[in-house]
Amino acid sequence: MEEKKPQEPLQAARGMHDILPSRSDRYASMESAARKVFSAFNYTEIRTPVMEPAELYERAIGETTDIVEKEMFVLKDRGDRRLCLRPEGTAGIVRAYIENNLGHEFPIAKFFYIGPMFRAERPQKGRYREFVQIGSEYFGNERPAADAETIILAHSLIKKFGLSDIQILVNTIGCPACRPKYLEVLKAYLEGKKNDLCENCRTRLVKNPLRALDCKEDADKFGDAPKTVDHLCEACRTHYASVLEHLKSAQVPFAERPRLVRGLDYYTRTVFEVYSTGNTGSQGALAAGGRYDGLVEQLGGNPVPAVGFALGVERVLNELDAASPVSDAKSRRGVFLIPLGAPAYEVVQKLLIQVREAGIPAESGAADQSIKSQMRLADRIGAEYCVIIGDNELASGEFALKNLESKSQQNIPKDKLVQVLVDRYSVKS
Ligand code: AMP
Repeated sequence: MEEKKPQEPLQAARGMHDILPSRSDRYASMESAARKVFSAFNYTEIRTPVMEPAELYERAIGETTDIVEKEMFVLKDRGDRRLCLRPEGTAGIVRAYIENNLGHEFPIAKFFYIGPMFRAERPQKGRYREFVQIGSEYFGNERPAADAETIILAHSLIKKFGLSDIQILVNTIGCPACRPKYLEVLKAYLEGKKNDLCENCRTRLVKNPLRALDCKEDADKFGDAPKTVDHLCEACRTHYASVLEHLKSAQVPFAERPRLVRGLDYYTRTVFEVYSTGNTGSQGALAAGGRYDGLVEQLGGNPVPAVGFALGVERVLNELDAASPVSDAKSRRGVFLIPLGAPAYEVVQKLLIQVREAGIPAESGAADQSIKSQMRLADRIGAEYCVIIGDNELASGEFALKNLESKSQQNIPKDKLVQVLVDRYSVKS
């Protein structure tokens, strides 16, 4: 007989993480908090595929961006079509907006999304290869109030998640009318520094000079670079001033950052990033977004203005952890009902239904198991309480509720048991 070789255990793919039960609760509560905020701002959910044609991102995000140059997970299906795990949400939503003619009935449409994104980045704290983004897209409103609403929405969400000490950095990067002139000025400036630039920035200088300003290596060297705000057309200048006015009256904590640009090509006019105060490093943005008036047309739709943002769930969780670490230790939960004998088993099955209907996690042992083995099972499964029900308990009409953590015990009249459990659980949650 062939000898079986011991199997090496496998590991998750590089930069990808399991979200274990101790943490998945936190994702779920962030998601439900987000849904409430989005609903209050009148956004409805859109869910688009996790994979899209790779060409979508190449056309939308831009060939000379980090994402398209080196971070896309591209694979070929059996028909030799190039598909890509989505690196961000906007391009897919714009594709869906055009494909499903979503602007037809109501030309102004507001969507939110929650879901995993994938980028083949070098894994480090706050930078993962799979991460969850929560974001919004607002189509059909070119007015500054829509830019401001997006920023106010991002701010409200982050506050709702429990982070209060945050700062929003805002800038405008102009539009196709005024940006080319600015790019000429910027190019001339970068030319003057050419010998001082990293290899990427030297390429960007020719292909996409704006991106040099958010280069991970060189950004600090550009403190004296020309500012976009000094080279805006009249329409962009008025738009930007109005966005800032809206933010002031909404009392959003913002600061202008004249050299802020975004790593994706599709942005026009307003761009913004949200940071936790004191953590404005290049890996620290909690959320980012801006206006992208040309993208719908660029992807084959009618010209429709739009503005949106995306927030990184893991970045927010990291911040919350830093503020008050949450123990990853597993805690006991739920009730384990222990029937002793056939009559008790009948009673336990009915009780089990009632306790579960009350929303309390509950299990029971089997009629033919000894008390000892059921107690052991309750302990191994991590139950918080157990209730032993045998002939004596049925006769007296009182059940003993035992806390398996503190080992304390309390006798409870049988028809009060569900209510007592409900009270204990509602205190906790
Ligand atoms: P972006 O789509 O690059 O504008 O990013 C928007 C937000 O998504 C960032 O502010 C981060 O919070 C989050 N994010 C982007 N890339 C990553 C990543 N590799 N790992 C974790 N979060 C990320």
